[in-house]
Amino acid sequence: MTPDFEAQLRAVSLRVTRPRLAVLSALRDHPHVDTDAVIDLVRADHPTVSHQAVYDVLRALTDAGLIRRIQPAGATARYESRVADNHHHVVCRSCGAIADVECAAGHAPCLTASDDHGFVIDEAEVVYWGVCPDCATSTKPTESASSEGTR
Ligand SMILES: [Zn+2]
Ligand SMILES: [Zn+2]
Ligand SMILES: [Zn+2]
Repeated sequence: MTPDFEAQLRAVSLRVTRPRLAVLSALRDHPHVDTDAVIDLVRADHPTVSHQAVYDVLRALTDAGLIRRIQPAGATARYESRVADNHHHVVCRSCGAIADVECAAGHAPCLTASDDHGFVIDEAEVVYWGVCPDCATSTKPTESASSEGTR
C-alpha cells in the first residue's frame, strides 16, 4: 500500500530529496492540512528541514501535480496528496474541518454549464459548505437549556 514516492518524483523529473519525501509522506497520512501543519509534521521527523524548505517543496510538488492545493473561501490553503480524481470537499463553516466527497460524475467538468459562452470548459469548482457533526452537536441552539454545566 505504500506509494513509491521516489518513483512519483522521478516521473515528474523532480530530484528525490529528503524534504520532498517527508512532505509526501506527511500528506499521505494527514490529508487537508495547512502549511503550518505540514511544517510541524515534517519537522517532527526531520528537525533540520527549514520552514522555507517546506514552502519550496509544497510549491514544487503542487506545480508538478503530485499534490493538490485547495483553498476554500476564507480559509487557509490546505494540501493533499490525493490528486487527479476530481474529488470535491465539504467544509465546516464553524471549525473549518474538511472531508472528501467523491465526484458523482467522476470526471471534470462534472456540471454542465447552462451556457458555455463559447468557452472550452474543463472544470467546475465544487465546494460543499455546511456544519460538521461535532459542531452540529455542540451548537444546537434550541437544546442549550439541557446541556450540562452551563446553567
Ligand atoms: Zn465543525
Ligand atoms: Zn481531498
Ligand atoms: Zn463532481
